[in-house]
Amino acid sequence: MTFDISIIGGGHAGIEAAHIAAQFGLNVSIITIPGIGLGSAPCNPSVGGVGKGQVVRELDALGGLMGILADKSGIQFRTLNDSKGFAVQSTRVQIDKDLYSQRAEELIATIPNITVIREKVLEIKPIDSVFEIITTVRSYRTKKVIMTVGTFLNGKLHTGSEQTIGGRVGCDSSSGLQTLFSEIKTRPYRFKTGTPPRLDKATIDYSKLEEQPSDSTVRNFHCLHDPFTRFSVQASCYLARTNPETMDIIRNNKEKSPIFNGQIKGVGARYCPSIEDKAFRYPDKNVHHVFIEPEGLELDTMYPSGISSSLPKEVQLDYVRSIEGLEEAEIKVYGYAVEYDVIDTTDLKLTLEHVQIPNLYFAGQVNGTSGYEEAAGQGFIAGANAAVSILGLDPLILSRHESYIGVMIEDLTSNTRDEPYRLFTARSENRLFIREDNSLLRMFPYRSQFLLNSAIDSYQRNFIESYEELMEFCDVTMIPEYSPLMEEFSGEGELQKLTRRMSVSEILRQAWLNPINTLETVLTHHGVTLKHDLIRTVAISKKYDGYIKRSDFQFEKLKKMDSMKLNWETVCGSANISFECRQRIARIKPETFGQLKLIEGIRPATLAVIAAKAL
Ligand SMILES: Cc1cc2nc3c(=O)[nH]c(=O)nc-3n(C[C@H](O)[C@H](O)[C@H](O)COP(=O)(O)OP(=O)(O)OC[C@H]3O[C@@H](n4cnc5c(N)ncnc54)[C@H](O)[C@@H]3O)c2cc1C
Repeated sequence: MTFDISIIGGGHAGIEAAHIAAQFGLNVSIITIPGIGLGSAPCNPSVGGVGKGQVVRELDALGGLMGILADKSGIQFRTLNDSKGFAVQSTRVQIDKDLYSQRAEELIATIPNITVIREKVLEIKPIDSVFEIITTVRSYRTKKVIMTVGTFLNGKLHTGSEQTIGGRVGCDSSSGLQTLFSEIKTRPYRFKTGTPPRLDKATIDYSKLEEQPSDSTVRNFHCLHDPFTRFSVQASCYLARTNPETMDIIRNNKEKSPIFNGQIKGVGARYCPSIEDKAFRYPDKNVHHVFIEPEGLELDTMYPSGISSSLPKEVQLDYVRSIEGLEEAEIKVYGYAVEYDVIDTTDLKLTLEHVQIPNLYFAGQVNGTSGYEEAAGQGFIAGANAAVSILGLDPLILSRHESYIGVMIEDLTSNTRDEPYRLFTARSENRLFIREDNSLLRMFPYRSQFLLNSAIDSYQRNFIESYEELMEFCDVTMIPEYSPLMEEFSGEGELQKLTRRMSVSEILRQAWLNPINTLETVLTHHGVTLKHDLIRTVAISKKYDGYIKRSDFQFEKLKKMDSMKLNWETVCGSANISFECRQRIARIKPETFGQLKLIEGIRPATLAVIAAKAL
C-alpha cells in the first residue's frame, strides 16, 4: 500500500485536498477515523457567509468541491448583506448536513485514484525519502502527507464539569501533535471552539418566531450548475431572540462555566463567541439574535445559531426555555466546547508545506482556523501544491490582492496566531475587487496553470472571452443624449439628469443606477441576449472600476509608508477601526506606521484607513 499523497482526515480540508490532487492523476489516499462521514459538519449546518461565500466561489472557479456539494445539499439560499454594496454581499447556503456528507462520499467514490481508508493514524515517521504512516491496523508508505485532522489532536470536550476525550461529540480523539510527529519541535497551541445544544424540531413554537424562507433569486455556487435550479426541497429558518431573563440565567452561572472558571485553557474564536462570552463581553446587551436552522430535511433537530455553550446541561435547558418560542423546547444533544492542539503556522510556507519537514503539509482547523470554508480553501492549496510538486510544476500561491484564500494563507503563515482565525471581508485591503461575482476571472489564471482540460476549464475559457467582448462593448457603445434610454436611466434629482452622449461604461458608474438592470436594459435595446452571470460580472466590474484603481493605488502607497509617524491615541479614538484592532494598538503603542504594521492581528483594512486618513 504505497501512495503519492496521503491525506490524514476526511473533513472539509481533507476531501478538497484529495479531490484536487486526484485531478492530476496521482495515487491518493484519505486515511480517516472510522465512523465519521467524509465532509461531515459538526457545527453550523451551512456553507458560505460573509467573506466565506467568496471563498466557496473561488474554490469553485479553481476546480474545488465545496460549491458542488453545497448546491446538491442546499435547503435554503440567502444573500447576506444584500442591502449593502455588491463587494460585501455573500451567498450563504443552509445545508442538509447528512445529505452533504452523503454527496461527498458518493463523489469521492467515483474517483478511481482516491482510496478511502477508515483507520486511525497513530504515528507518522519520515523514512528515507518517504513517510511511513502507522495506523491502528497496519502501515502505509507515501511520498507526501497532508494533515487535515481538525479539532482531533488531543481533543477534550467540556459540558459544565463533565470532561470527555474526543475530537467532537460521540467521536474518537487523536494523539497529540508531538506523539504523531516526534520531529515537530514547536510546541502546539491549544485552541477551543464550541457548539450550541441541538433542539428537538417538534418542540418549538414556530408561530412565535420570524420565518426566513429560501430566496429563489440567489445563484448556486457551482459554475456548471444552472444558477437557479435547486437540487432539494427548500426549508425555512426562523429568528428568535434572547432576553434579559436568558442573559441573567447565564450571568448567574458564571462560576459553572468552564470558560470562566479556569477549566478550559484553550483560546476561543473572538468572532464566534459562545453565549456566555457575549453575556460578559456585552454586560448591557440582553437581546441577541438566535437563528433557528434545520440540520436536515429528515433530521429531527434544529441548530440554534448564536447560543453555543459549554455550561452545564441544566443551565443550557434553562436559558433555552427562557427564549420566546422555545418555552417547551427539548434538547436532543447538549452544547459543548472542544479544546485541541494546533500547529504554529509560521512553520509553514505559502504552499502550506512544513518548513523543517519537506513533503509534509498542514491544512484546516489544525492550522488554527475556524470554519468549513477556511478549511476547504487550505485543503485545496495543500492538495494542489503537493500534487504540482510531485509533477515538477510551479507552486500554486494565490495573491492576497486577488483572493480571500490568498489573504488567509498569507495571514496564517506570516503571524503566530494567538486566537482562532476566521475570514471576513475586512481582512482584505482589496475587497472591492475580490468579490463573489468575479471569482471566475480572478481564479482563471491560477486554474489554467494546472493545464487540466476538464469541463470547467472550457466553460471558463468561453466565459472569459465573452467577458472581454462585453467589457469592450460597454466602452465603445455610445448612447446618444436623445435616446429614450437616457431618460429611463436619469435619476430624480437635477444633477442626475443624463443630458449628454455617454458610453455604456460611463452610465453603469452612475451611483443611483443598479448596474445589472441597466446593462440588461441596454443589451435588450440592442437585441442581444446573454447569460445573467456574464452580465452581472461585467456590470459590477464596470461599476467599481474607479474604486478598484484607487484601491490599487492605496495598496502601493501602503508599501511606502513605513516611516510615517502616527499618534496611536488618535488611531484608537477612530470609530472606523475595529474594537479588536484598537485593543491591540493600545497595548503596543506604535509610533510609526511601520511599527503598527507588525502588530499581530492588525487587519489590512485598518492599515488602509490609517494610510488614507494619515491619522
Ligand atoms: C464543537 C465544534 C464546534 C465548531 N464550531 C464552529 C463554528 O461555530 N463555526 C465554524 O465555522 N466552524 C466551527 N467548527 C469548526 C468546523 O467544524 C471546522 O472548521 C471544520 O470542520 C474543519 O475542517 P477540517 O477539515 O480542518 O477538520 P474536520 O472537519 O474536523 O475533519 C477532521 C478529520 O480528521 C480525521 N482525523 C482526526 N485525527 C485523525 C487521526 N489520528 N487519524 C485519522 N483521521 C483523523 C477525523 O476523522 C475527521 O474526518 C466547529 C467544530 C466543532 C467540533
